[in-house]
Amino acid sequence: MEKTLTGQCLCGQVVFTVQDHFKAFYQCHCKQCQQLTGTAYASNLFTEPANIHWQSGGDQVATYEHPERSFSKAFCKHCGSALPFLNKTKTALIVPAGCLDEAASIDVEADIFTDEAACWSNTDSLVKRFPGFPE
Ligand SMILES: [Zn+2]
Ligand SMILES: [Zn+2]
Repeated sequence: MEKTLTGQCLCGQVVFTVQDHFKAFYQCHCKQCQQLTGTAYASNLFTEPANIHWQSGGDQVATYEHPERSFSKAFCKHCGSALPFLNKTKTALIVPAGCLDEAASIDVEADIFTDEAACWSNTDSLVKRFPGFPE
């Protein structure tokens, strides 16, 4: 049976649940993800747009849309934690893996945009690597 996973921001004002039903799990090393996270890469799970239930604090979620690139981020207005968001074409819900209380059952599939990876990134990954979007 499919599990229900709970996720939340660091300050606890935003809480949500998702079904443990993901179609992809990528670690993105692009420059934008480095800037948004302040770290070497973003670990993102992909699922259907409807697979989200905001338990509390849904109105505390702010979003940022990049003016040119298909790139956005949702975050808690109080603590700045990364939260789930719909992609620009609204075809997928992207869940930052770190905001889930427990791990999803899917394994990381690939490291993507590795051409843009920071020179100080020490990822010694065993998964597939793609210089840009996965093929
Ligand atoms: Zn918060
Ligand atoms: Zn990225």
